[in-house]
Amino acid sequence: MEKDSPILYIVVPCFNEQDALPQSHDRLMKLLEEMINNGSISQESRLLYVDDGSRDDTWDIIAHLAGGNKSVSGVKLACNSGHQNALMAGLAAAVEHCDITVSIDADLQDDINVIPQMVESYKDGCDIVFGVRRERKSDSWFKRTTAMMFYKMMNRLDVDTINNHADFRLMSRRSVLALLDYKERNLFIRGIVTKLGYKTDCVYYDRSARTAGESKYPLRKMLNFAIDGITSFSVKPVRMVFMVGVLFLIIALIMLIYVLTAYFLGRAVSGWPSLILSVWLVGAFILIGLGIIGEYVGKIYTEVKNRPRFNVDTTVGLDKE
Ligand code: UDP
Ligand code: MG
Repeated sequence: MEKDSPILYIVVPCFNEQDALPQSHDRLMKLLEEMINNGSISQESRLLYVDDGSRDDTWDIIAHLAGGNKSVSGVKLACNSGHQNALMAGLAAAVEHCDITVSIDADLQDDINVIPQMVESYKDGCDIVFGVRRERKSDSWFKRTTAMMFYKMMNRLDVDTINNHADFRLMSRRSVLALLDYKERNLFIRGIVTKLGYKTDCVYYDRSARTAGESKYPLRKMLNFAIDGITSFSVKPVRMVFMVGVLFLIIALIMLIYVLTAYFLGRAVSGWPSLILSVWLVGAFILIGLGIIGEYVGKIYTEVKNRPRFNVDTTVGLDKE
């Protein structure tokens, strides 16, 4: 029953979005009404705006919209906590009332017209549906290149992410609940959702330019985000330190041969052999030591994150009397 017309909550994190919000709201509202009218989602479906501690009139706009329409709700965070945390707050609030959530940025750079398609995928049995950008002509050259480098690097480091997928995605109630079980503070949601293990699907769209206002992701935030993404999921950088240590050890051995030949040929200046050998050997041992310590720190880090160990999909025969 619930699958036929599920309750959909569209979760929209907003940070200083007073310029983009009114337009975005009109478009989202129109889509929501259309979907309710053609019966694909329940009448109790809503838009849920999360104000991430904006310093402009964003909250007043949200409060006003919610006051005039029962299909609109708002959550206001006490201070700016960042996109990922705002999104988590919205999902946590939504999951208590809905069957499915769709998260989308307030500037609607992602094509809202694929949302019905996402809902169809859900009805076909998918728990998570990723919105994937087909091309990014509308983004600046800089953003495009840095994003591409980032996805490449993530793949190298074995972090499961979907290329060209940001945070535009449909999630079923149970997958949101599973996501909320990840208690870590360094949030990189799009790395976690691929780990949940539920059946997923992708829908493709073209990304458009920001409707109004400016990007809330300056270079500094983008870099922090990238570093978070890598260090929260991969211990490979630590392994690299160890590998460099081993490399130095090999160089030290080559140097040993070189120094010995020079010594026996009488070409070694006094003091040089011992000095040059210590430089490489000590360097190698320090790096290997750091790598070993890093490996333990990495283990501590995984324990501290306290991630759930597994996520059950279905069971049979367990509910019998
Ligand atoms: N955002 C947020 N808190 C922040 C920064 C951004 O909630 O500290 C929201 C912002 O309002 C938008 C979304 O995150 O809805 C993505 O931001 P933006 O569109 O500026 O990023 P870009 O598309 O340029 O990467
Ligand atoms: Mg944007």
